[in-house]
Amino acid sequence: MTAKWLDALNPPQREAVEHIDGPLLVLSGAGTGKTRVLTCRLANLIFTGAAQPWNILAVTFTNKAAREMRERVADLIGADVEKVWFGTFHALAARILRRHAEIVGLTPNFTILDADDQLRLVKQILIANNMDVKRFPPRMVAAIIERWKDKGLMPDKVSSGEAGHLLGGRALDLYAQYQQRLLALNACDFGDLLLHNLTIFMGHADILASYQTRITHIMVDEYQDSNVAQYLWIRLLAQKSRNLCCVGDDDQSIYGWRGAEVENMLRFAEIYPDAKTIRLEENYRSTGHILGAASGLIAHNHSRLGKTLYTADAQGEKIHVCGFWDGMREAQGVATEILALTQQGGHSLSEIAVLVRAGSQTREFEEAFIREKIPYRVVGAKFYERLEIRDAVAYLRLLAQSADDLAFERIINTPARGLGAKTIEQIRRVARAAKLSMFAGAQKILVDGGLKPAAHRYLTAFIDMILGWQKQLDTLHHTALLELVLEQSGYMAMWQNEKTPDAEGRVENLNELITALGTFPDLRAFLDHIALVMDGDTASPGGEVMLMTLHAAKGLEFDVVFLPCWEEGAFPSPRTLDEKGMAGLEEERRLAYVGITRARQKLYISYAASRRVHGLWQNGAVSRFIGELPPEHIIEESDQTMRGMRRPVNAASSYSKNDYRIGDRIFHQKFGNGNVIAVDGDNLEVDFDKAGEKTLRASFVKKVPKL
Ligand code: ATP
Ligand code: MG
Repeated sequence: MTAKWLDALNPPQREAVEHIDGPLLVLSGAGTGKTRVLTCRLANLIFTGAAQPWNILAVTFTNKAAREMRERVADLIGADVEKVWFGTFHALAARILRRHAEIVGLTPNFTILDADDQLRLVKQILIANNMDVKRFPPRMVAAIIERWKDKGLMPDKVSSGEAGHLLGGRALDLYAQYQQRLLALNACDFGDLLLHNLTIFMGHADILASYQTRITHIMVDEYQDSNVAQYLWIRLLAQKSRNLCCVGDDDQSIYGWRGAEVENMLRFAEIYPDAKTIRLEENYRSTGHILGAASGLIAHNHSRLGKTLYTADAQGEKIHVCGFWDGMREAQGVATEILALTQQGGHSLSEIAVLVRAGSQTREFEEAFIREKIPYRVVGAKFYERLEIRDAVAYLRLLAQSADDLAFERIINTPARGLGAKTIEQIRRVARAAKLSMFAGAQKILVDGGLKPAAHRYLTAFIDMILGWQKQLDTLHHTALLELVLEQSGYMAMWQNEKTPDAEGRVENLNELITALGTFPDLRAFLDHIALVMDGDTASPGGEVMLMTLHAAKGLEFDVVFLPCWEEGAFPSPRTLDEKGMAGLEEERRLAYVGITRARQKLYISYAASRRVHGLWQNGAVSRFIGELPPEHIIEESDQTMRGMRRPVNAASSYSKNDYRIGDRIFHQKFGNGNVIAVDGDNLEVDFDKAGEKTLRASFVKKVPKL
């Protein structure tokens, strides 16, 4: 009997699948069948009897990918795939650690801390060390520890040179204390799972040998995004059998900011001199134009191995590059196009994805999908369900209605202001007894007394703060009020002080919330909108459009992909450019390459000439990545495809701020429409239809297109 899956492979793929002994690296571009090779190779190992299911360890990037691979293999051979060691690095390492926990001072029922627990622990340690948690935010401390763990370094391995300057010279000591506390709690964090494995393997040759005997074939997908600890773990396990098969694409390495080391892959041949390297060049996913655009773009990167890719598929449609006047029209344009694709184009919603650079960018698309009744799913959390958005909205709810006890409880001590569980319980009791809201109950306690002096002081300050904002409800513009709330409450600062990617994403979301609020006439309308948006979230039988970040889309594919918000200042991410310069730019470009190569048939890249940021219009320039797409593969859209949406040609040049001329029609947020009557550098003199003549900075107005 010949294995049927071998027929579904091209010659180099088949060679990889049939290569059973010795190290193997499959290094190739997107959509060339790397994941397919892994799946077939796994089936083939079992089918030919080269390995038993429990001899095989297959590492994938997500648990979902592991599940999918298991299903695929089960479809192919129906064998005992349950016995294969499938999973992410963390899941597999946890499984091993449970068996040998005592060696590292844990018991087998140890707890794996989630991110919140981890932060709480770091904070306790900082406080115990009399360190200022404002100056040394727990999240920043946790991030330093995580980076060391990514590199496989327990406290005794961190060189003093490396640790010396961090956290005022205290970093290493804090790390050591943190590890001790984890042990005392019989717990470990994510990074520990691998590190404890390394400790066990390196200290106990017999245990390592037992795994090396048992696991005879190891396979790793997305190898380009592995970190040093993961690399060491694999290397130890594969040392004896040397049957290690890694697949990856250096052009898709996008987790450098989380400790991934693309060098792991580039050095594979050095570490395993007898390694076979197979390159796959035929792309089976995308049309010719999509592939051509992706290849043309990534060719701008200097540090890459370089590969050729081709497809036997038709050229297909050119990539639609679409400009819009503003972000709202862009989101509406995408929604309208999705309706057309599903209603007339025969595409199903679940085969359509919108991929954004920053998590905060999902918001405008969510609004458009809700408006158009397009079922959608966000990978991660929907915008209004995110922690920081719920917190900020709780402040607004309390302002609008002080009897909102849920909102009150949510934010009374967020950020921490000395009003702990005991005080809150006291307020709750008084409120219940007097049949009052908690807010009123709190005011009653302050009058009647009964709190400790410090708590009394903190509560007075809190209540006064809320009352102060409530007084301004009618006088201050609602976006200005939210800015004030976020500032005075210390909520924005709480996240700003934590210089981690996670915290920065939350700050971006809060800024996006201010922008969102500005699109409503008042606070009430906005709160009603949110209440309705959060309601009625049911799965749709016709599938859902997928909305996620580019990072989350790795390894996935869709018939139709939308890549919006391609503007300078957004993509490439200015933060990455600031922090990592040229290397950062290249990582951003790889992210663009990942995005483009997710599409099978249709790809839309779009940008907006202006966007509302904090309620003010900002004119953007088109992302440099659009300029790097080979012109023969793209089509600049008129309003035909993005139905009803007009676009400026070369938005970058026509919207630079000095580009206003006498007679231009413009729009200003506060004064409405008007005509430019004089231009003086960055200043414009404008005759507004309603507000009369004013002089303004050009950056505060928006050109009204001549239709
Ligand atoms: P990525 O780099 O994005 O992870 P990949 O290299 O892992 O991509 P796969 O996801 O394995 O690529 O394959 C891409 C698509 O091409 C899948 O739909 C897969 O089923 C299909 N494919 C792969 N090899 C072949 C082949 N030999 N014949 C037909 N289709 C194939
Ligand atoms: Mg893949």
